[in-house]
Amino acid sequence: MDLSTVTDLVPTADPADWREGDAWLAGGTVLFSYGSQTLRRLLDLTSAGWPALTVTDDGLEIAATCTVASLWAFEESHQAASVRERWTALDLVRPCCDSFVASFKIWNTSTVGGNVCTSLPAGPMISLTAALDGVAEVWGPGGTRRTQPVAELVTGELRNTLAPGELLRAIRVPDHALRSRTAFRRLSLSNLGRSGVLLIGRVDPPDAGGGFVLTVTASTRRPVQLRFPADAPPTAADLAAALDAVIPLDLYHDDVHGLPEWRRDMTYRLGEEIRAELLGGATSDGGLR
Ligand SMILES: Cc1cc2nc3c(=O)[nH]c(=O)nc-3n(C[C@H](O)[C@H](O)[C@H](O)COP(=O)(O)OP(=O)(O)OC[C@H]3O[C@@H](n4cnc5c(N)ncnc54)[C@H](O)[C@@H]3O)c2cc1C
Repeated sequence: MDLSTVTDLVPTADPADWREGDAWLAGGTVLFSYGSQTLRRLLDLTSAGWPALTVTDDGLEIAATCTVASLWAFEESHQAASVRERWTALDLVRPCCDSFVASFKIWNTSTVGGNVCTSLPAGPMISLTAALDGVAEVWGPGGTRRTQPVAELVTGELRNTLAPGELLRAIRVPDHALRSRTAFRRLSLSNLGRSGVLLIGRVDPPDAGGGFVLTVTASTRRPVQLRFPADAPPTAADLAAALDAVIPLDLYHDDVHGLPEWRRDMTYRLGEEIRAELLGGATSDGGLR
């Protein structure tokens, strides 16, 4: 779609350059498909040349401009060779990328940062990075820098904590979360449809406490996380009670990709499947209420 009000494309990743009527441009797959009547300039973040993926002693740094295609390819990259065995949670990367039901053209341009900043409930990069306790680094006008867990940065459908002019620079996924055992479940109402429910469970390694973390996305308007310490793993009833406590019906998303009641019932079912897979024990009632 033409953005007919846009008069300039500025190659910059400096928030000091931002002014009213500007939008950060990453892959453009949202900007050019939703359109706009108000934008004046696009500030092209891809000009920054940030390395897409960086392995550090502390974990994995994912640049905001890392494309979905680059993330999908990471596991088999030269860079991943030294961590592939240790970082068992890399198993989540491809299912999350695959949850992005789009063509290679979209995969090759759309970015992890653009997905998080768009803040759709079915944002699979939100699911992945929130589930692994990814922390966003945010740059603001005036040289401000702040960090915030991705699970808290996204606050609702098309809503997040970014102030005007702030940009997402990178997401850092900690080493301990990358070493966790994980389980992934996703449902959509149609074969190649957008995610209606996407849950990820993880059990941290013993040296990181060994706790169980369940992250609910897509079914809810924003990510919801439940944490249980290693010495108090939840039973099926505990998990259902915890979901009851933190997700009221009106926090379940409601659109053509699923009714809130269906999303709620599938959240309980998939949550219980994940609990049984990671913590052992049969699913008694599939978690249905
Ligand atoms: C066929 C198709 C299928 C799709 N399927 C899905 C899907 O299943 N789930 C889903 O969530 N989305 C989906 N999308 C929407 C979109 O492709 C993704 O959300 C994508 O990841 C957006 O990334 P982008 O780099 O293209 O963002 P852009 O279009 O460049 O930007 C999107 C928004 O984020 C802002 N922005 C981008 N990067 C930053 C940054 N670093 N800091 C601050 N603000 C920033 C922009 O200003 C803009 O407001 C789909 C799109 C298409 C065309």
